[in-house]
Amino acid sequence: METTRRVQVGSVAVGGGAPVAVQSMLSCPTDDPEACLAQIEALHAVGCEIVRLAIPRADVLDGFGEVCARSPLPVVADIHFDYRLALGAIERGAAKLRINPGNIGSEKKVDAVIEAAGAAGIPIRIGVNAGSLELHLREKEGWTLSEKLVESARLAVAHFEQRGFRDIVVSAKAHDVVQTVETYRLLSAELPEVPLHIGITEAGTIRQGTVKSAVGLGILLSEGIGDTMRVSLTGDVTEEVRVAWEILASLGLRRRSPELISCPTCGRTQIDLVGLANEVQSRLETIQSPLKVAVMGCVVNGPGEARDADVGVAGGDGEGAVFAHGKVLRRVPEDEIVDALFEEIGRLVP
Ligand code: SF4
Repeated sequence: METTRRVQVGSVAVGGGAPVAVQSMLSCPTDDPEACLAQIEALHAVGCEIVRLAIPRADVLDGFGEVCARSPLPVVADIHFDYRLALGAIERGAAKLRINPGNIGSEKKVDAVIEAAGAAGIPIRIGVNAGSLELHLREKEGWTLSEKLVESARLAVAHFEQRGFRDIVVSAKAHDVVQTVETYRLLSAELPEVPLHIGITEAGTIRQGTVKSAVGLGILLSEGIGDTMRVSLTGDVTEEVRVAWEILASLGLRRRSPELISCPTCGRTQIDLVGLANEVQSRLETIQSPLKVAVMGCVVNGPGEARDADVGVAGGDGEGAVFAHGKVLRRVPEDEIVDALFEEIGRLVP
């Protein structure tokens, strides 16, 4: 958001009008640097901009340091409970920390982390959650959970700022979409200057998690709320990034690969349109351009229905037509449709 402060996560700017940054979290063990770096490469290839690693124990810190040193993306250390893990991660090159002050313990321990992050010049994400709310907030009568979470975040931000630390990002995620939206709206109103990390936590497997994330994050982003986002899915981590980009693209906020327009098929379809659309979609992922590409089921209606597309193909009986802005350019046999389409795309995207 324009009104938030900008913080720098390695080479990636978050907040202050910077494009909404896409991030993910590794699913492999932090003490296996080769596996982590392979996963980071895969995430990088699909457009991930920031990665987060869990630091569950002190004996993973050296592996974490190696990943930080070799990663092409800025690496965030995810810390719970033990402030010494945060200090160790900072020493080993973390580009940012994610902590929950509510489970770090005494003020002195939180202050030690603030001081070390300040000295290293890295930001901290304050991630509050319902499970570790302060006792006085948990017992507040008549307050909604969202109000309690926001108050917890507000108190933590005030504590950090009193110590002169302002490189803060805040998150307050829940797995309930409506509650998450309500919480972030309140956060944005209460802490308008603080960049927000948005996400629906534990959103579920690919289909359910995609829908929940698209609805929740879509509402927030369309209201200008959110500076960096993570889609949480139980599945391949690269799917999180693909879904995040689809959400951003569908709102017209950021686009990384061409937009695919494809029809739902009907009784007029005479080719394997589903297979064709999937093949085109996966080949388009390597192209970075705002092109609109159509894959339509029939020559009779397809080109007209997709006249918005820069280029497209429409299926016929054993053949396909390549078209641009609604006009058919040529007809090719069915097994040459994809190559013919990418020949045309190649003319538009050098
Ligand atoms: Fe049916 Fe043709 Fe429209 Fe696809 S483009 S839905 S096949 S009419």
